[in-house]
Amino acid sequence: MKDPEDALKIAHRAVELGFTSTVGIIHDNNGQLKPLGSHEQEIFEEVMALGKRSFSRFNEFQHNMARGREHKWRCRSGSRYLYICEDGLVHWCSQQRGYPGIPLAEYTPEMRHREYSTKKFCAAQCTVSCVQQVGILDNWRDPQNLQPMPMTPPATQQAELVQIGQGRGPT
Ligand code: SF4
Repeated sequence: MKDPEDALKIAHRAVELGFTSTVGIIHDNNGQLKPLGSHEQEIFEEVMALGKRSFSRFNEFQHNMARGREHKWRCRSGSRYLYICEDGLVHWCSQQRGYPGIPLAEYTPEMRHREYSTKKFCAAQCTVSCVQQVGILDNWRDPQNLQPMPMTPPATQQAELVQIGQGRGPT
């Protein structure tokens, strides 16, 4: 948001109207942390406090993110969470395409179990909140001691894309 004050106004208005207020921290194109300035941090904490009674309290990791601190957690992507791209390949998440980059039809339970125990190199500064939310209870479960499988390189030949709007017009 261009003006951080706008976020606060919107959050207050949402709560007044009986809605739940949530806030997310922007990440870069690798899903990694982009720390907030001090004024933005104050606003962030105020908006977070407004959402204390809702599911948004499960975004606690964002307090670390706002301060530019690393977050300790176990990313279970590739297991609890799958990102399936337009080519039908399974990836850890939208920011880490190519890991493992296997077609969904060939993705076995053993592969899921492997990813559950795979330590993700990008976890400490990750801001992808949906993956953190689905795996919140797994932070207390099994340690991750496997290394990632080699990344699958992107396909050189992309399938021909369907152009929307190129069909026949009204007759
Ligand atoms: S830690 Fe997990 S969710 Fe975050 S960028 Fe890495 S693979 Fe994606």
